[in-house]
Amino acid sequence: MKKISLLGATGSIGQQTLDVIKAHPGDLELVAMSFGDNIEFGRKIIMDFSPKIVSVRNKEACDTLKTEFTNGITFVYGEEGLVEVATYHEATILVNAVVGSVGLIPTLKAIEAKKTIAIANKETLVTAGHIVMDAAKKHGVSILPVDSEHSAIFQCLQGENDKNIEKIILTGSGGSFRDKRRHELVSVTVEQALNHPNWSMGAKITIDSATMMNKGLEVIEAHWLFELPYDQIDVVLHKESIIHSMVEFHDKSVIAQLGTPDMRVPIQYALSYPDRLMLPSTKSLNLWEVGTLHFSKIDFDRYRCLGLAYHAGKIGGTMPTVLNAANEVAVAAFLNGSISFLTIEAILEKSLEKHQSISNPSLDVIKEVDLEARAYVREQLLQ
Ligand code: NDP
Ligand code: MG
Repeated sequence: MKKISLLGATGSIGQQTLDVIKAHPGDLELVAMSFGDNIEFGRKIIMDFSPKIVSVRNKEACDTLKTEFTNGITFVYGEEGLVEVATYHEATILVNAVVGSVGLIPTLKAIEAKKTIAIANKETLVTAGHIVMDAAKKHGVSILPVDSEHSAIFQCLQGENDKNIEKIILTGSGGSFRDKRRHELVSVTVEQALNHPNWSMGAKITIDSATMMNKGLEVIEAHWLFELPYDQIDVVLHKESIIHSMVEFHDKSVIAQLGTPDMRVPIQYALSYPDRLMLPSTKSLNLWEVGTLHFSKIDFDRYRCLGLAYHAGKIGGTMPTVLNAANEVAVAAFLNGSISFLTIEAILEKSLEKHQSISNPSLDVIKEVDLEARAYVREQLLQ
């Protein structure tokens, strides 16, 4: 029995993780969980799964739940609450499915507590990949990818010698606006941006997919997870999202992982690794129904955010922290209607230009730079 602690239970990845846990009562058990503000849904999950400890974002919600559930469940809150859930003594695996860099400290604490990490929260590796990977090595902890692209690469590498990798090739669907030309992006709405053609995901990552920043964050995440330089990480557009990613080896042989687009498959792989479990609701891939797979080259003028991510990643140091923090604030501003779609990339460009990267930053430096980058974007938004 694997005992699971889940951060972000009410989110898109969180819900699908719960689907997987529910489908395997003999193998997987939820013992600890967190959510943010969605108390109604959180309450339902608590009733369905009876975890031992629950963390919520604020104290009021925590106090309310304490009065409602008197059956021995521990309720905690805030960032400390996230850490308590992430390090809960009974759990052996942490599924980190919160959105944003708030996921970083709980991940590090869970690594210190020797939990296996199933990582969906990509902002953690983007902002502090060197610290997280070093800590994992030091404590002998595995970091298992949940994101479909990284899971695909991880699956393609099973039984292979990492030294034989020529490059990895991440696939990207192109997001909600893949059929639009650049000039047509000037007036797109939040509602249009939230309408992803292949995946149903949380709001932030859906906007990141439309700007292609999601692929950019994934490139940086892949750099850390697979310890590869950026010139060995490629991206190809593949609108069907059937090939989830590929690895090319020195002999030019390419291994790809395919499947219907269903996040529960990579989530389940991370939870069952090195074994494989079966989800009755996952559909088989009938290639005759798919018919044709399309691929095209990335146009970096069209998808500028992806270029910015490669740029920030290659410079390294605190540059990816700035990229991520500025992106979180800019995407939130787009979602609440304060800025237009193309302003997101303009803000990111300015934020990166202004920043002098600090190499090999400590956690304190990362925190400081993260706050500064957020403050700078907020200032820009007021102008
Ligand atoms: P959602 O927005 O759907 O869910 C986010 C979760 O985090 C919710 O449970 C939310 O709680 C909680 N949360 C948000 N902010 C805080 C906070 N400050 N403190 C505590 N809890 C918080 O996001 P997704 O599930 O889409 O994505 C989660 C992560 O996984 C992201 O990093 C994303 O990039 C990554 N990812 C997502 C994929 C997907 O298919 N969705 C695919 C691959 C990676 P509440 O709603 O209760 O407020
Ligand atoms: Mg992905």
